[in-house]
Amino acid sequence: MAWDFSTEPEFQKKLDWCKDLCVNEIEPLDLVFPYAIRSKDPKIKALVKPIQDQIKEQGLWALFLDEELGGPGLGQLPLALLNEVIGAYGSAPALFGSAAPDTGNMEMLAAYGTDEQKERWLTPMINQEIWSAYSMTEPQGGSDPNLFRTTAVKDGGEWVINGEKWFTSAGRAADILFVMCTNGMFVVPRDTPGVEIQPFPSSHNHIIYNDVRIPLDHLLGPEDGAKVLAQRRLGGGRIHHAMRTIANCKKAFDMMCERALSRESHGKIIAEHQMVQEAIAESYAEIEMLRLLVLHGAWTIDNSSTQAARTQIATIKFTMARVLKDVSFRALHIMGSLGTTDLTPLQAMYAAAPTMGLADGADEVHKVTVARNVLKSYRPHEGYWPTEYIPAKKAKAREHFAELFKSDPYYEQYADGMEKYMRGRH
Ligand SMILES: Cc1cc2nc3c(=O)[nH]c(=O)nc-3n(C[C@H](O)[C@H](O)[C@H](O)COP(=O)(O)OP(=O)(O)OC[C@H]3O[C@@H](n4cnc5c(N)ncnc54)[C@H](O)[C@@H]3O)c2cc1C
Repeated sequence: MAWDFSTEPEFQKKLDWCKDLCVNEIEPLDLVFPYAIRSKDPKIKALVKPIQDQIKEQGLWALFLDEELGGPGLGQLPLALLNEVIGAYGSAPALFGSAAPDTGNMEMLAAYGTDEQKERWLTPMINQEIWSAYSMTEPQGGSDPNLFRTTAVKDGGEWVINGEKWFTSAGRAADILFVMCTNGMFVVPRDTPGVEIQPFPSSHNHIIYNDVRIPLDHLLGPEDGAKVLAQRRLGGGRIHHAMRTIANCKKAFDMMCERALSRESHGKIIAEHQMVQEAIAESYAEIEMLRLLVLHGAWTIDNSSTQAARTQIATIKFTMARVLKDVSFRALHIMGSLGTTDLTPLQAMYAAAPTMGLADGADEVHKVTVARNVLKSYRPHEGYWPTEYIPAKKAKAREHFAELFKSDPYYEQYADGMEKYMRGRH
């Protein structure tokens, strides 16, 4: 009976260790030296290394990658459990070598890169010597890849890329850009002439690729394979976002419960008011549902593939924004006026909900995927009546007992009597 919801005690110890590290070292670092991990200042960067050394010593570095690629090869399920802890602490995912957009890009490189490409880009990415970004969405359309126009043309010993990309997260700060073209996925060093980063938006960049020339070996995977690579990349990325979303939902929930027990109104602590209890119970249920969906999806990836978990991942994708929105709204509301300020993380969490509904694809598109995949295992019924039409089922059931009825008329009379009785009850 292999249906086990427990965490191995050894791994639980590691999770507890992570929680301590987040509370005692990572949160203070984020509060006083935000973005230290990306800092170019060697004195600030030096604050990061001792934390990362501890993480590596614990074997928790780049948990999403297989052993031969530099990770511990534990799989997605342990990563889900880890992200549930670290996902609510700003720079923790990056400090653990498990942050977007690099994780998805590394997975894509690991799956489709040649040995030489892995050595050139994957190894320095794992070591955080270089950072990456993913350039897929275009100004004229994001949800429908058939609208993308950026193209690479072969010219002698080079590819020449022309096009325009929109909302490339951290593009400005990246060393390499994974550029999805209509005819393949390409790796473009950010400082290549012709990569023109526009002033707005500041962190999710609008980039014009203007006659960008790159060597032929910067094509990743097969020519015309961009959509397959994108699916591979986004599949992992989506579930990783959801793992971190659970961490944020739990943080909001903890804040809601603490506050509910701490304030008084109309003669009782607010946790005793039934509508507050409803908010707590609904939030608890929603977080548990999302968590089980995510853990099951992670388990499916570990035991088969990202492709096999596609319907689960799409379900998780459109559920996470809703749960984050509902839970953070309730937490913010129960916090009262304080919740509406930026003096707690709640307002930012609530504002992040619509973002989660769009990043890695609009939720509607994922709902379509789920419905289409689910419908593949159904067939239309024959004739007028659905399979569960009761009169037809009853007639068939009586056929099942035809021999019995023939052997002794008592049974048929009894069945007729029950039929009459049941009809009389409606
Ligand atoms: C925080 C964040 C980070 C991002 N990072 C990156 C990144 O690093 N790289 C990158 O390339 N992109 C990135 N994106 C872009 C993201 O992939 C797109 O926002 C997403 O694919 C939707 O595309 P769009 O914004 O052009 O919206 P549109 O495609 O214009 O869709 C707008 C709305 O139209 C409706 N709609 C669209 N299609 C359908 C449909 N088939 N059925 C029903 N309704 C539909 C939905 O309501 C949808 O929300 C990021 C987005 C966000 C919010």
